[in-house]
Order: sequence, then C-alpha cells, then structure tokens
Amino acid sequence: MQKGRLLYEGKAKKLFETEQENVLMVEYLDQATALNGLKKDEIVGKGQLNNQITSLIFKELSAKGIETHFIKKISKDEQLVEKVKMFPLEVVVRNVAAGSFTKRLGISEGSQLAFPIVEFYFKEDRLDDPFINEQQILVLSLATEAEILQMKKIALQVNKALQELFLAVDICLVDFKIEFGKTKTGKVLLADEISPDTCRLWDRSSQAHLDKDVYRREIGDLVPVYQEVCNRLEKRRDQ
Ligand code: ADP
Ligand code: UDP
Repeated sequence: MQKGRLLYEGKAKKLFETEQENVLMVEYLDQATALNGLKKDEIVGKGQLNNQITSLIFKELSAKGIETHFIKKISKDEQLVEKVKMFPLEVVVRNVAAGSFTKRLGISEGSQLAFPIVEFYFKEDRLDDPFINEQQILVLSLATEAEILQMKKIALQVNKALQELFLAVDICLVDFKIEFGKTKTGKVLLADEISPDTCRLWDRSSQAHLDKDVYRREIGDLVPVYQEVCNRLEKRRDQ
C-alpha cells in the first residue's frame, strides 16, 4: 500500500491518503504532549509502542464483536484504517475517579464509581476540549440523538471488553477516551486509538500508573511503562 498525501498532522499521529479512497495510513509519532500541547517532548519508542498496543487492542475488540476502523498493522509505527468522518467529540468512560473528574467534582482520586459513566468533550483545541452535554451536542449539530445513543452504547461495550482484557493482565482500567467517526453508509464506527496515551491504567497490586500520567505528572519514564503494558498484553495473547 503506497503512502500518499499527508492529510493531517496531529499531536500523536499523522494521517496519509492511500491509493484506496476509503483507507488511510496512520503513522504513530514519537511525540508526547500534555496540557493541550503546552508540554511537548520527543520520546523515542513511543510511536511504535502505541501502534503495537492499539493494534492488539482493536483486534481484541473485533474478536469480541465490536467493529472498529482498524484494518491492519503494516510496520512498526504504521497501520491502515478505514477513513471515516470524525465526530468532533472525545467520549470518556470512567470506572474510578481520577483526573479532571476529581478536580471538577471534589472527589478523591481512586474512588470506585457505583457504575461506569460516559462523558462527552467537545474536541476543539482552541477551547481546550470543554465538557459538553447531550443537548449542547444536538444544538451545535455535532451528532444526532441516534448517533449519541450509539456512541454511548458502544463506549460501554468497549469498557466491558477492556476491563476484562486488562483485568487478565492485573491492570485496573480507571478511565479512557475514545473517538468515533461516521462511515460512508452512516454507521457510527470506533476510530482513533486506544493506548496508554488515552487510558488510565493502574497496576492492580502496586497501584502504579502504567499510562500517560507518568509523563503528565512527571512521575516516571514513559517508555518502560508503555513497554510493560505491551508485554503483559502480548504474553496473555500468546498463551
Ligand atoms: P489530535 O488531533 O488530537 O492532535 P492525533 O495526533 O492522534 O490527535 O491525530 C489523529 C487524528 O486522526 C485525530 O484528529 C483523530 O480524530 C483522527 N482520526 C482517527 N481515526 C480516523 C479515521 N479512521 N478517519 C479519519 N480520521 C481519523
Ligand atoms: N484523555 C485523552 N485525551 C484527552 C483528554 C483525556 O486521551 O485529550 C483521556 C485521559 O488519558 C484519561 C481520560 O481521557 O484516560 C479522562 O481524562 P480526564 O478528563 O480526567 O482529563 P485529564 O486528567 O487528562 O485532564
């Protein structure tokens, strides 16, 4: 598959056209950002690890009957995906209180939530990706009522599948962010990535952070931590 025109360069990935109109090549970058790009570093090895982990997770989801944009991993830092029209929304699922949820609501980090909750954020860098409710999504015509319902339903299915997957490798899935797009036929499809960049993952025995919080909070080195997540998932897959 030929790498065509660069369509988009984001904070963590580049998207390229391919000779197939509905297929994109995604290149995972060795770049970490936090605070909406204010903190930025090159971290050698991060791109390959996120490509590997995302590919493995999307394959697991597909095996569990959840459709995704993922087609296949084609090199250490590249994968092919189905091109979709992204909803400008970040869909966050939380099982345990952490991050912005604790700051906004005054709940201590680590509190188990009575049930998983789904939140939407408006993906708009210039506004710092603010929290948005369902009526606001409708008023801004970011998605229809049916699409919102579908995103919430799939997000909870993904949560269940990921909780099982991570539990099997002694990791607690605290929260995560996913993104959806719309296919040509109007189907809501899980897209983007699922990696330690987009999930909060805590070791079940030590409670150690195995995710991007080591970078955000400057409490450790990112690559060994992502490698640990990758190793555990690969070991489980190969058993
Ligand atoms: P950001 O845009 O937040 O800086 P990235 O660097 O991860 O993030 O860029 C990847 C971009 O690709 C994101 O804007 C995401 O919404 C978009 N994207 C992910 N999957 C697809 C897809 N299948 N089709 C089209 N765009 C996608
Ligand atoms: N997240 C993400 N991208 C973002 C914002 C959040 O992947 O732009 C993920 C984050 O890694 C965490 C979850 O979404 O797993 C919830 O993040 P939160 O709202 O607590 O925000 P943060 O603590 O990152 O400010």
